[in-house]
Amino acid sequence: MKEGGESKDQQLIVALRIRPISEVELDDGAVIIAHKVDEQMVVLMDPMEDPDDILRANRSREKSFMFDAAFDYTATQDVVYRFTTKGLIEGVISGYNATVFAYGPTGCGKTYTMLGTDYEPGIYVRTLNDLFRAIEETSDDMEYKVSMSYLEIYNEMIRDLLNPSLGYLDLREDSKGVIQVAGITEVSTINAKEIMQLLMKGNKQRTQEPTAANKTSSRSHAVLQVTVRQKSRVKNILEEIRIGRLFMIDLAGSERASQTQNRGQRMKEGAHINRSLLALGNCINALTDKAANKYVNYRDSKLTRLLKDSLGGNSRTVMIAHISPASIAFEESRNTLTYADRAK
Ligand code: ADP
Ligand code: MG
Repeated sequence: MKEGGESKDQQLIVALRIRPISEVELDDGAVIIAHKVDEQMVVLMDPMEDPDDILRANRSREKSFMFDAAFDYTATQDVVYRFTTKGLIEGVISGYNATVFAYGPTGCGKTYTMLGTDYEPGIYVRTLNDLFRAIEETSDDMEYKVSMSYLEIYNEMIRDLLNPSLGYLDLREDSKGVIQVAGITEVSTINAKEIMQLLMKGNKQRTQEPTAANKTSSRSHAVLQVTVRQKSRVKNILEEIRIGRLFMIDLAGSERASQTQNRGQRMKEGAHINRSLLALGNCINALTDKAANKYVNYRDSKLTRLLKDSLGGNSRTVMIAHISPASIAFEESRNTLTYADRAK
């Protein structure tokens, strides 16, 4: 496994993070069935076959999955950040776009990875810190302006998490063909501590932030959009020279989408499905499956419209899939591992 910074040319990085087993799972009698085997491989045991096999560590019940990077409960927030996202910063400063997703079922650690806690901040804050530092260190004939917005997509409607009283916002294309969220709050450079407070507060504004008691509430995507505008200090040009955009996204829980995939087309009409998550899945599939040369319809959902210029092309994408290690999460874990497996 290479650190993100050393694999600058990789267009799509898929990582897998197994969170620690929880008290609740242990109280339910769950055992650990998902293990990281090496830096790129994870194995999952099928607990349905014979529960005693897990305790005997019968290898025949195992299925293995490959990733660009695999993390388990021993991985710190810093390690996850460095091996996935850190390497995107240089490109964003040079005017390229990039997207980082946290994918996985509700309760498996997406928000922990992206937002984290005051003591264990996640990818949002670590990225912004390094971005500011990198800009300071860059040669000073360029002037940079960093701004950020934090929004939610819920039921195909966009809300400003930094100012929810604005109501629902529309997507528009500006004169240069760049997609903008009309009227969204843009916050300019502030210090890392303030950013964390701002994001924590914004996260509380998410529509019914998922709780164990209410799994239906996991259908909102939280999107942190960071824009780096760059212009020359020396030449007297008013026009912006380059714009780099980075999207960092805490996706809605994948449980419904994957169930639907399993049960086929008919389920799609019945269940109220997350359109953005399905459209994103199609876009990522198209990225992975170059040979198939699939047509990608970004217009299918709000999320993919917003990401139109930040998926594929010259943009780099990082997907961090999340699972629980517990036997009671077997079905969801298998779906997530199969979805994210790199060995196709
Ligand atoms: P999701 O956003 O995918 O629904 P969360 O990030 O809210 O899941 O995680 C569920 C619970 O597990 C939270 O209490 C969170 O703090 C904890 N958790 C998740 N991942 C980790 C981790 N890697 N280390 C420690 N605790 C974690
Ligand atoms: Mg969450």
